[in-house]
Parts: sequence; C-alpha cells; structure tokens
Amino acid sequence: MAPSLFWFRRDLRLGDHPGLHEAVARGGADGVLPLFIIDEKVLGSSGPARVEFLISCLEALEQEMGSPLVVRVGEPVEVLREIVDETGVRDVVVSGDFAPSGIARDAVVEEALALKGVTLHRVSSPYAVDPGVVLSEKGLPLKVFTAFRRRWEITGPHVILDAPGVKWLRAPSTGDYETLRRLGGSRRPALFDDFLDGPPVPLPPGGERAALDRLGDFVDHDIDFYKERRDILSIQGTSGLSPYLRFGCIHPRTVLAASQGPGEGRTTFRSEIGWREFYGDVLFHNPLSANASLQPQMAEMEWDSGPAAKERFRQWALGQTGIPLVDAAMRQLKAEGLMHNRARMVAASFLVKHLHLDWRWGAKWFLWHLIDGDVASNQHGWQWTAGTGTDAAPFYRIFNPIAQAERFDTQGVYIHRWVPELAGIEAPGVLQPGGGVDLLHQANYPQPMIDLKQEREEALRRYSDARDRFHAKQE
Ligand SMILES: Cc1cc2nc3c(=O)[nH]c(=O)nc-3n(C[C@H](O)[C@H](O)[C@H](O)COP(=O)(O)OP(=O)(O)OC[C@H]3O[C@@H](n4cnc5c(N)ncnc54)[C@H](O)[C@@H]3O)c2cc1C
Repeated sequence: MAPSLFWFRRDLRLGDHPGLHEAVARGGADGVLPLFIIDEKVLGSSGPARVEFLISCLEALEQEMGSPLVVRVGEPVEVLREIVDETGVRDVVVSGDFAPSGIARDAVVEEALALKGVTLHRVSSPYAVDPGVVLSEKGLPLKVFTAFRRRWEITGPHVILDAPGVKWLRAPSTGDYETLRRLGGSRRPALFDDFLDGPPVPLPPGGERAALDRLGDFVDHDIDFYKERRDILSIQGTSGLSPYLRFGCIHPRTVLAASQGPGEGRTTFRSEIGWREFYGDVLFHNPLSANASLQPQMAEMEWDSGPAAKERFRQWALGQTGIPLVDAAMRQLKAEGLMHNRARMVAASFLVKHLHLDWRWGAKWFLWHLIDGDVASNQHGWQWTAGTGTDAAPFYRIFNPIAQAERFDTQGVYIHRWVPELAGIEAPGVLQPGGGVDLLHQANYPQPMIDLKQEREEALRRYSDARDRFHAKQE
C-alpha cells in the first residue's frame, strides 16, 4: 500500500467528512498526507477579510489534526504532479466541487494524475445533496425554489460520520500563511480598485470547534424564534453559520441534523439551508449564471455606465447614499465582512432598481468583502433581488428602503449602530431621508443622492423597454 493524499478545499474540518474516511481507508497503515494548495487564481479574487478568515480556519484545522498541513503554492495540477513524484501516493481524495471552475479544474487534475497511474476520488460535496441530484419527476432541473425544496427535503436522512482516527504524514511546504496573505486578494477588481481599502475587519473565530459551538448556541437559544426574529436587523436572530459553511468548517448535513424537529422556527431555518443548496444546483445546471442574467429578457436591460455611474457606485459602496438603511448595510459590510440578509436584499435592490447599475458590479463588491462570499449564493442572491434570476422575483417588486427600515428596524437601532452621524435623531425621523433632511444635513450626513419615487419609475420604464426590445427581437 501507499499513503493517500487528502486535498483540503472547502471542507476544513474532521467531523462529518466522508472524503476523509475514504482517504483513511485508502491510505491504510501508510497514513494520509494532508494538502492545502494556495492557488492564486482562486484566492486572488477574495478580499483580505475572507483570506484572514480562511487562515484562521486552516490554523484551527491544524490544531484539531495535531499535525501541520502541507501547504504548497501553485497550479493544482503542477503541485499534485510534484507531490505524487515525491511521495508515491496512488490515491488523491477530495470533496467534490460542483462549481463550474472547480469542475473544469478537477477534470484537468484527474487526467494528469491518471497519466501517472494515480486516481482522483471525489467524495461528497459541500452540500447535503450534491448539485444535479434533485430533479423533477420528468428528470429535469428544477427552476423554482419551492419545487426544488420539496424534492430536496425527501432525499434524507443523511448519515453523519464521526471524525476518523488518522495517521497524518508530513512533507515539505512551499508556502505558508504569509504567502497566502500576499497572494490572496492579489487580483483586485479594476472596477473599484481606488476605493477598496479599509481597516482590518474583526473576525469571528475560525474552524470546526467554533462552528459547532455557534450551531449549539443557536439551536439551544434561538432556533425556535428564528421565524419571527430572522428579519430584525438590530439583533442576532440568525445562526451566523454562513462563513463556516463557506469553508466547510461544518457540513450542512450536521446543521440539518441539529435542526430537526417540529415548529416553524426549525422548518424555516432548514428551508434557508435549502436556498443554499438550490443556488448550488442552479449554478451547476447553468454554469454561465455566475455572470449572465438568467432571464434572457434582462440581457436587454439598460444599465448606466461611465464616470457618473461609477461615482454613484462609489457612494453606494462606501455607505454615503443619504438613505440611512442602505448606508448602514454597506458600512456593516465594510466593517464586519458580513451583512444581515434583509440588509443585503435592500442594498442590492437599491443599486439595481434605484441607481440603475448592473447587478454584477454590486455582486463583485459583495464577493470581495463578504467573509461568507460564495459564488453560487452571492450571484444568485443578487439575481433574485435584481429580478434577473431563475425563479424571477419580478423586476417590478422594488424594495423601498424606507418602508423596509420601518418594518425591520423600527427604532433605528441598526441604523444608529452603523451611521453615527445620525446619533440623537430618533425614529421615525432617522429612518427617512425625507422628513429628516434638515436634521440629517446638519449632522454632516449626506443628502439623499436620489429621489426614490422618481428613480423607481425610471427603473420600471427601463424594464418595460427591455421587455419590448426582447419581444421585438423574438418576432
Ligand atoms: C444579494 C445577496 C448576496 C448574498 N451573498 C451570499 C454569499 O455570498 N454567501 C452566503 O453564504 N450567503 C449569501 N447570501 C444569503 C444570505 O444573506 C446569507 O447566507 C445569510 O445572511 C447568512 O447569515 P446566517 O448564517 O446567519 O443565515 P441564517 O439565516 O442563519 O441561515 C442559515 C444558512 O442558510 C443559508 N442561507 C440563508 N439564507 C440564504 C439565502 N438567501 N441564499 C442562500 N443561502 C442562504 C446560509 O448558508 C446560512 O448560513 C446573499 C443574499 C443576498 C440577498
């Protein structure tokens, strides 16, 4: 027998890990070589906050393992060829990657390894149900979430595995976490390069232990109130698990198992996990949807561009729009690398439907800053809000940021937390750019950059034109 190699990617944990069990079985008494590859192509587009969070997850993993990871820098295919030559491994095990770029990379790796007589084993995935598995009765991909969820829910129960006993092997590294810091985030998006920097973000603790603690806390105290509290912007009414799910410090199977049971809180929570699975599935079936609107008619939509548009984008990105809820949301993102889900919807809708800017600009900004930034959830969250997505939240459903603040931040607590210029201005004034304009102006807070009603009408006009152009082309 020869040792096996386990290539860690979005599965930085030891428990509930079918791939690791496979690696242990294949390596037998010869053990398992644990590898992490610093691939600039992948990590270069993660902003510094997500890179730091990743590093804390890797460090926590090494602690749990009681042994260091082999950290190598380079193209995965080259790194793996080298390491196979050095160590004589015959089996490389990974958790399956179902994102378009991951599928393409793994196909190249598989072929290169096969030429050396080495097998790439893909086991499980970052999803409870692998993308592509849930299909309609006719065997077709499901385009609407509710239909997807019904079939996805009945694919369980899922088996949860304990952490295996592993004999970890060591091999020289060509990189370390300083290299990761340097190469991570090296591909800064040109669109907003000049206003990207900010102070370092205070991060939650990374790793599996922290993820399990978070889950335990949430299930013990909050899950049964989830339905009523998940939209309240000023409290931690949600699980806070997204960064851990992003890096696989915890698997959604574990989360689903812990949240079993009756009650609307639990049902609603499991359904949210379902959204993550749905978006993974949509991306799998529509690999272009990471960058192209899923609704073909939205390709006809007229978005603004040029220097004035870029300036409006800058005001939005830096939380200087003069619309308190939007500004609070955007400042939370920059300060914490996270944003409440309700705030994500409001801020995204404002960019697309009040500022008339392309959803891809906003998606890029989010993806750079979010520590839970994930192509499937982010791009499709944006498409849902922009009305360009699979299950077409119609374009004319436009979030009014004032009404949203009145419903979900009634006392302005969330706004006050992130917009200190408005301290001392009480609700309802603090929620509204209109009635509070004089006060807001005095407080050095920007004047509202647009008239919400006017720009809402402009958005509807553009949508109607886009539809007409699309239908004219079909005739
Ligand atoms: C414009 C936009 C961009 C988004 N970008 C991302 C992203 O890059 N990464 C990301 O993980 N989520 C993204 N979301 C979804 C959602 O906002 C976050 O998952 C959620 O805020 C994370 O907080 P939580 O873990 O406390 O969620 P909880 O409410 O506790 O939900 C539990 C888990 O369910 C999943 N989930 C919940 N809501 C959604 C949703 N709408 N879509 C997909 N999965 C969901 C997440 O994995 C989350 O951790 C985005 C949503 C929008 C509207």
